[in-house]
Amino acid sequence: MPRKIEKDNIRKPEWFKIKAPLGTNYREVRSLMESYGLHTVCQEANCPNRAECYGARTATFLILGDICTRGCTFCNVRRGRPREVLQNEPERVAEAAGKLGLKYVVVTSVTRDDLPDGGASLFADTIEAVRAVNRGCRVEVLIPDFRGNFEALKTVLDAKPDVLNHNIETIERLYPAVRKGADYKRSLELISRVRSYSPGIPTKSGLMVGLGEMFDEIRKALEDLHQAGCRLLTIGQYLSPSKKHHPVIAYYSPEEFDELKKMALEIGFDGVVSGPLIRSSYRASMMYSNSGSKH
Ligand code: SF4
Repeated sequence: MPRKIEKDNIRKPEWFKIKAPLGTNYREVRSLMESYGLHTVCQEANCPNRAECYGARTATFLILGDICTRGCTFCNVRRGRPREVLQNEPERVAEAAGKLGLKYVVVTSVTRDDLPDGGASLFADTIEAVRAVNRGCRVEVLIPDFRGNFEALKTVLDAKPDVLNHNIETIERLYPAVRKGADYKRSLELISRVRSYSPGIPTKSGLMVGLGEMFDEIRKALEDLHQAGCRLLTIGQYLSPSKKHHPVIAYYSPEEFDELKKMALEIGFDGVVSGPLIRSSYRASMMYSNSGSKH
């Protein structure tokens, strides 16, 4: 069962292998993003799956800049005063997605508490631009909490994303330590508002483990998410970006990730991916296809 381990004893386990990001496709995706002046969360968050995802010519677009107004202690994205929003960013994302031949695009953003709508209108514009340029393309958005501004949420939902993803990230007790500025209940409320305002749009969320949570707390978070209306779930291992960030408190084994998946399915989620390297946008297209018929 998932457990808390003393952090002094902790080492990255033998089986935890991360492929170095290399190869022609990797270089091509990077240079394409650079040529369009775009960011990816893959790069900014130093995601361990870049070798695989870029290798398959896919990536998760990070809109609204690469500087975040929040300071989550688990996150590698820079915190500070954001620069001006890039001109024509939605069109640039759409064109880059077309060049990559993507049929399923995942778009996320830094948190922009400085903008009146938190950047919601740019999400909506990006969904529309991607569809205008790439007919039939599906769009998943991984949104911030917009500080509880539900009018902003409606702006995104009115653009009809194929999946609305909002990560809960961790259990309630750890919010003050790792997600300052966020609110566990507010995030649940956001998911529940998606369900009531746009019942046809699948809701998705993600949880990291290894931050110091206990088994029962994970169960409670999953039950809360499910009760709020969340139907798709990702669970992955937290990796600390640096010594200044929140430390890794435990590494979960592949068997423990299997147990968490079983637990989530028993709670009633329609689709669950759980594993050491699972991230919110990992193989998002596959997850959507495998569970799409239920929505
Ligand atoms: S898992 Fe998501 S963030 Fe990581 S490389 Fe793949 S697409 Fe990018």
